[in-house]
Amino acid sequence: MNLTQFSFEVGDNGVALAKFDAPERSMNTLTRAANEDIAAIVKEVTENDAIKGLVFTSGKESGFCAGADLGEMTGLLALASKAETPEEKAEVFNMAFGINKLFREMETCGKPVAIAINGLAMGGGLELALACHYRIIADDQPKLRIALPEGKIGLLPGGGGTQRLPRLMGIQAAAPYLLQGKTMKAAEAVSMGVCHASAPTAELVEKATEWVLANPKAVAPWDQPKFKVPGGIPNQHPMATQVLMMGNAMIVKETHGNYPAQKNILSCVYEGLQLSMDLAIKVESRYFAKTVATPEAQGMVRTLFQSLQDLSKGASRPEGVPKYEINKVGVVGAGLMGAGIAYVQAAAGIPTILVDVSQESADRGKDYSKRIVDKAVSRGKMTQEKADALLALITPTTDYDQLKGSDLIIEAVYENPELKAKITADCEAQIADTAVMGSNTSTLPITGLAEASSRPDNFIGIHFFSPVERMGLVEIIMGEKTSKETLAKAIDYVLKIKKTPVAVNDFRGFYTSRCFSTYTHEGITMLSEGIAPAIIENVGRQSGMPMGPLEVSDSVGLDTGLKIGRQMAAAEGVDYNADPLGALTAWIVEEKDRVGRKAGKGYYDYDEKGKPSQIWKGLSEKIEVKTTEVSLEERQELINRLLVRQSVEVARCFEEGVITDARDGDVGSILAWGFAPYTGGAVSYIDLKWGVAAFVAEADRLADAYGERFRPGAMLREMATKGQTFYERFPPAGK
Ligand code: NAD
Repeated sequence: MNLTQFSFEVGDNGVALAKFDAPERSMNTLTRAANEDIAAIVKEVTENDAIKGLVFTSGKESGFCAGADLGEMTGLLALASKAETPEEKAEVFNMAFGINKLFREMETCGKPVAIAINGLAMGGGLELALACHYRIIADDQPKLRIALPEGKIGLLPGGGGTQRLPRLMGIQAAAPYLLQGKTMKAAEAVSMGVCHASAPTAELVEKATEWVLANPKAVAPWDQPKFKVPGGIPNQHPMATQVLMMGNAMIVKETHGNYPAQKNILSCVYEGLQLSMDLAIKVESRYFAKTVATPEAQGMVRTLFQSLQDLSKGASRPEGVPKYEINKVGVVGAGLMGAGIAYVQAAAGIPTILVDVSQESADRGKDYSKRIVDKAVSRGKMTQEKADALLALITPTTDYDQLKGSDLIIEAVYENPELKAKITADCEAQIADTAVMGSNTSTLPITGLAEASSRPDNFIGIHFFSPVERMGLVEIIMGEKTSKETLAKAIDYVLKIKKTPVAVNDFRGFYTSRCFSTYTHEGITMLSEGIAPAIIENVGRQSGMPMGPLEVSDSVGLDTGLKIGRQMAAAEGVDYNADPLGALTAWIVEEKDRVGRKAGKGYYDYDEKGKPSQIWKGLSEKIEVKTTEVSLEERQELINRLLVRQSVEVARCFEEGVITDARDGDVGSILAWGFAPYTGGAVSYIDLKWGVAAFVAEADRLADAYGERFRPGAMLREMATKGQTFYERFPPAGK
C-alpha cells in the first residue's frame, strides 16, 4: 500500500495498527489523501486473510483528528453553490456520500475494527470512530474532548454522525451534541455509551488490540437483529416522536427558522432512524448536499470557520515586520475595561502594570482578576498554583515609574480627550521610542488623540469589547500617522492574548460602534413611528440579532448612548435632538432618570436578578403605539429594515476606506455586535443573501419608503452594475 497520511503495520498477532499522522501538519484532518488512505487500509484489512482486525490511533500528540479539511470543504461548498442541473447536484451528492460509503464499508468489512482515541476527535474524526466496532478513549487527558461541531458553522455531520450517535445514545440525549455541537469529555463518552471503555493513553492501543483479538466476529449494534435505539424511534414509540416534535418546535423558537442546518439535522434523525443504516446514510448525505448549497452554510463556513481562523492567525498582519516580543504591558485606568484587559494579559502570561489614580482603585482593578480565578478554582477548572501565578503577574500601582520597560501601554481611562492626552504624554515619558502607545477609546478618533503623542507613528487604537474576558474580538484602529510596524506590533499583541484582530481605519465610531448603532437607531425609529415595543423586540430577535434593539440599548447604557450620540452629532454638525433617537434618549435619560440595565431601569423594567421583566409602561407618555399587530409580510419588512440598514452602513465603511478587507467586515460584525450569524456577517448578507444588485434595489426601495439613511452609495451601484461581490472587490490581498 502506498499510504501518505497513515502508517500501517500488522503485528505478529495478526492485528493491523493504522496510525493517523499527516506529514508536515500539526493536526490531522480528513483530507482527500487521508480518505484515500482509509479506503486502501479498509480494502487491505478486508482482503488479506492474514489480518484479523484493525486498530486506529493517532501518531500526533495534538489529537486524533480535527475533522474535515477546510480547503476541501471550501471546494465542496463552491461546487454546491453553483450546482443547478441534476448532473451537477448528483456530483455534490456523490462527493458527500463518498465518506459515508467508506465508513460503512469499514463497519461491514467482516473483521473487528477498534479505535484508540488518544486525543481530540472532532467532526469527521469522531464519525470515523463511531463507525468502528469498539472505542476506547484516554482517561488521563483532562482537556480531551470529542464533538460533532458542524451545526455551529451551518453544516451537518455528514459522515454518519446524525445516524450513529442517536442510535448509541438515544435521540433526546444526542440532540444537543448534534444540533449545538456540544463537546463531550472522556468520562461522559463512556457513561453515555458513546465509547466502550477508557484507559490511560499509554495503554489504549494494547487494550484495543486485545478487544480485536477477543471479538473476531464484531458487528455494529445496529446490524444485529435485536437492536433497539435507546428510548425508541419516531413513529413507533410515542415518546421518540414527541421528542422530535418538541425538538422541532424548540429549534423554531430558538433559531426563528434562520438556521437550515439544524432543521436538516432533525430531518436526518427523524427519517434516518426509521431505516436501515445503509439507507439512513443516503438520507443523511442527501440532506448534507442540500445544506451545503444554502447561503447560510456558505456564509457561516467562510466567516466562522475560514476567515475567523485566518484572522486569528494574523492574516491581516503587514508582512516584513519582525515578530514583536511582548514581555511587559502597562494598562492605565483600572476600571471596567482596564481590569478586564489586565486579566486577559495575565492569563496569557504577560507581566502587567495596572495603574490608576489611587492604590485603592488599582487594587480594585486587580480584584476583578481575583474574582475570575477564584471562581475557576472553586469549580475545579484551575489549580490554586495557576491562579496564584496569574495574579502574581498583575502589579496594581499609582506609580508611573513602574511602567518603565513596557513594550506597550494601553490607556483605558475615562472617555475624555484632554485626560487621554495627558495620560499619553505621561506614559510616553516612561517608555522606549520603539514601544507602542495604544488607546482603548470607543469613539474618539485616533488621529486626534495621537496629536498628544510625541511619536504618532507608534500610536494606535486597540478597542476591546466588554466583558473583555469573554469577547473574542479586538478592533485595531490606524490613525493617519500610525505606521505599518505599529499595526504589526498591535496584531502580535492581540494574537498573544488569544483574541481575533480586525484592522480598520480611523473614523468616529470606527467600524463596529458606527455600524452597530444603526441597529438600535432603526429600532428606536420604529418606536417613534408607533410600532409596539414588543413587536420591535421580537422582530429584532427574529432577524437573528442576539437581542432586540431596546434591550441591547439598555445593556450598553442609555447614558453612554446619549453621550456618544451627542458627540457624533456635534462632530457631524447635526442637531441630535431633532433625531427621534436623540430626542427619546435625552428624555428617558435626563427627564426620567432611566439609564438602562445597570440601574435596573431603561426601556425595560428589570427584576432583582437584572433580567428584563417588562417593557417600561411609562414609554406611553412619549410614544403613541399605533401598530399592535403585524402580518407576516410586515414582519419581514421590519426585519429587512433592521438588517439592510446595518449592511448599508457597512458598505459605506468600505466606500470610505474605514475597512478594506471583506473578511474583517464579516468577522467583525458577528463577533463585535452579533450581526445575525446565520448570514455569515453583514458583508455576506449582501453578497450571499441578496446579491449586490438585488440589495441595491431593496435599499433604494427602503430609502424611498423610510428615508435617505437606506440609500446605497456610488460604490454599491457600481458593484451592482459590474456584478461584483464584496469578496471580489475587497479580497484578502487588499490589506
Ligand atoms: P471606567 O469608568 O470603568 O474606568 C476608568 C478608570 O480610569 C477608573 O478606574 C478611573 O479611576 C481611571 N482613571 C481616571 N483618570 C485616571 C488617571 N489620570 N490615571 C489613571 N487612571 C485614571 O471606564 P471604562 O468603562 O473602563 O472605559 C474606559 C475606556 O474604555 C473609555 O475610553 C471607554 O470609552 C472605553 N471603552 C469602554 C467600553 C465599555 O463597554 N465600558 C468598551 C470599549 C471601550
